[in-house]
Amino acid sequence: MRIERIDLYHVAMPLIEPWRTAYGEDAAIEAVLCRMSSGSLAGWGESAPFAAPCYSPEWAGGAFAAGRDWLAPALLGQTITTGDQLQKRLAIYKGNQFSKAAFDTAWWSLYCRQRNEPLHVALGATRSQIPIGADFGVTDSIDDLLSNIGGAVSRGFPRIKLKFRPGWDLPMIQAVRNAFPEPTIHIDCNSGYRLKDLDLFRQLDQFQLAMIEQPLAHDDLSDHAKLQQQIKTPVCLDESIKHVQAARQAIELGSCRYINIKPGRVGGLTNAVAIHDICQQAGIPCWVGGMLESATGSAHCIALAMLDNFTYPADIFPSQRFYDEDMSDPPVELDSNPELPCVSAFTELPEPVPERLARCQVQHVTLSI
Ligand code: MG
Repeated sequence: MRIERIDLYHVAMPLIEPWRTAYGEDAAIEAVLCRMSSGSLAGWGESAPFAAPCYSPEWAGGAFAAGRDWLAPALLGQTITTGDQLQKRLAIYKGNQFSKAAFDTAWWSLYCRQRNEPLHVALGATRSQIPIGADFGVTDSIDDLLSNIGGAVSRGFPRIKLKFRPGWDLPMIQAVRNAFPEPTIHIDCNSGYRLKDLDLFRQLDQFQLAMIEQPLAHDDLSDHAKLQQQIKTPVCLDESIKHVQAARQAIELGSCRYINIKPGRVGGLTNAVAIHDICQQAGIPCWVGGMLESATGSAHCIALAMLDNFTYPADIFPSQRFYDEDMSDPPVELDSNPELPCVSAFTELPEPVPERLARCQVQHVTLSI
């Protein structure tokens, strides 16, 4: 496919309520959408690094600028037949994984459209339905959180993830476990702690958590290995796994027993599949995370999550969980009448609705040959 035109959009998608984590609070999700065209066909990609460089060093305004000034010009006019070729074209530019992911995911969408093949099949998946987990950020009170968890437990969610940060930590998890001793629960620290907090993590062993997600610094592997040696609860890495090489190193160092893979954080679906494969060979189970993308980006996460080594329920949400109206259509919905909450892979990928895209638009640029 010769890449003939690229449209980039920087958008801010308002949430129903702010998303609170160890790194801050977002009232809208800022993302970069890429529409990549070849002949009469086009595919959409999405990457949501958020408004500020707090989850990772990237941010939506920067990802848009890097895409406009460097990545799009490197791809325009090129004939790209595999995801690896696209990554090689972009490899001269260091980092900028979220920005690269907008192009990589757009390329995969275009590729599937050309082949008339569902994305999950193109990625190598053999299943088309997966269970999903429930996630809860920091709430106004413990009672609010317990009520939210109660709702998720009664609806049969197979696991629950809780944001965990200083001031919302041990007493919170103690209260949750007192009220809900049985469900599979894990916590996500979003790199809010350091190795000096070892005592806190040792105390967490009593709560039978499925894992502790990204307890230490966003770019650390070695302290995580030291922590994992000293606690029983598995460590899961998220922010630290920014590329294939980091996954390889984390496995060698023993930094974690699980890896959360987000296409945006690792530069797109091509690298996400490569990390999945490395983990599978090493016996490290994975699960798919998300960045509260619109249905366009969520559909890519859903397709990825169909691969075999994604054995822990994914962070994928029905559109209505976070948005009054998803910017893209069709929205993400739970499957009707499953034993437990599940989503199915899309056969036709969701695309932005033009008037909703215009409402959310911060900036837009068109580049063509
Ligand atoms: Mg996380």
